[in-house]
Amino acid sequence: MKCLHLLMIVLILAVPAVAQKARVLPPDRIVDLTYAFGVDTVYWPTAEQFKLETDFEGMTDKGYFYSAYRYSAAEHGGTHVDSPVHFAKGHYSVDQLPLERLMGPAIVIDVTAQCAANPDYLVSVADFENWEKRNGRIASGTIVLLRTGFGKFYPDRKKYLGTEERGAEAVAKLHFPGLDPATARWLTQNRAIKAIGLDTASIDYGQSTTFESHRILFDKNIPAFENVANLDQLPAKGFSVIALPMKIKGGSGGPLRIIALF
Ligand SMILES: [Zn+2]
Repeated sequence: MKCLHLLMIVLILAVPAVAQKARVLPPDRIVDLTYAFGVDTVYWPTAEQFKLETDFEGMTDKGYFYSAYRYSAAEHGGTHVDSPVHFAKGHYSVDQLPLERLMGPAIVIDVTAQCAANPDYLVSVADFENWEKRNGRIASGTIVLLRTGFGKFYPDRKKYLGTEERGAEAVAKLHFPGLDPATARWLTQNRAIKAIGLDTASIDYGQSTTFESHRILFDKNIPAFENVANLDQLPAKGFSVIALPMKIKGGSGGPLRIIALF
């Protein structure tokens, strides 16, 4: 009985608090930053492509329509998250990523012009400093999105990756921009970002062989969103991102549904 009274009191007290805190959804505008997964989804040259196989599709003998499919793919392809354990032993696997890291206020750093002139462009500290000169210091808890402009080539592998070849020999022929390891280091030492994403296949540029930016970021538990879509539809700041990956137990990354909210 005592317990019941206590419960009633807790409930009565809790109701107005919940009502006050409730956030109104949907927001004014939503931009989907996710590519659909299908036969043309871009994967690393050495990775297994996305596969969708039909278990059943059509009219059943009971007279109703039914469809069900089977899918399989590598973790790291299409719009996906790299979880820290991808390059940092013992760090978060994709199911362990704290949800707070995957949502929050976001910004876009536009390096389209630099990357148009050089497909091997490395996003520099100066690019971040220039953004800050115009928009103010990057606040703690920000999700940073890098717009290289390569999104407009997706899913044309030749233009987007630099090669449409597959297999181990193709890796050396990859050409697309990425984050300079020096910038990754600057970020982890001077700013407290939640996550980083970009519109190329990897946070390290195509010509990287040591994946240093991955290692620097993941060592600090900062996940990376790769093959992010529609960055051309976002302003430099003033919006939020929610990025929820498939919760693969022990996974090093996985398919991501990422959206921008205004
Ligand atoms: Zn990845």
